[in-house]
Amino acid sequence: MRPIKLILFDLDDTLVHFDDYYEASVKDTFKSHFFTRDMNIDDLYGVFDEVNRALVQKLDSQQISIDEFRIKRFLFSMERVGKMTDVDTALEFERLYQRVAKSNMKPNEGVNKLIAELKDFYQIGVITNGSKDWQYDKLQAIGLNSVFPKDYVFISGEIGFEKPSPEIYHHVLRSSSVQSDQVLVVGDSWINDVMGPIQQGMQAVWLNKKNQAPGGPGPLAVISELEELRKILL
Ligand SMILES: [Mg+2]
Repeated sequence: MRPIKLILFDLDDTLVHFDDYYEASVKDTFKSHFFTRDMNIDDLYGVFDEVNRALVQKLDSQQISIDEFRIKRFLFSMERVGKMTDVDTALEFERLYQRVAKSNMKPNEGVNKLIAELKDFYQIGVITNGSKDWQYDKLQAIGLNSVFPKDYVFISGEIGFEKPSPEIYHHVLRSSSVQSDQVLVVGDSWINDVMGPIQQGMQAVWLNKKNQAPGGPGPLAVISELEELRKILL
């Protein structure tokens, strides 16, 4: 196997962690959105979180797209509490949520330092499912927007294919002058960041923060913190 030249990081729950901003951001959004501000925020959060969890499973198994996920989590939650609403209100809620969430995301100095160190030895980038603006907003919020060269920020919403479809990895290989085995993907999703890349001949490191059982053999390493990459790659 040739030496690694390009390291691609997943974004969600790899560089930016959902648990760090999600609950506070959902509650803050309920408090300020016109449709929800008079409701019981804690009760509503309970319902929303349950709906969200069920939809995350559908999203992860590719039964729904990320756009459907965002609309449905609001519509289904409102339906459960007996409030009728529409797609426009759901989209507006989501826009407000994104503004609030962005202000709740903070840079991780240890991780940002590691990435700066890796950049001295490798090309670095991002491979993420989501919409272009929202994923760039997150990179900006965590202080990494200008660290990754734009040509190596691969966002499904821009490319037209989501991980783990082979096309998104093919797109990466066409856009960078590296062979598949010179690419290392680092991420938390076994399907999207380990199996998907490996099936295209890339290498992978699985960020297994929650100590889950691996889906099979294959990754170069399994880590529980990104900073463990230092001893593997530097
Ligand atoms: Mg992820």
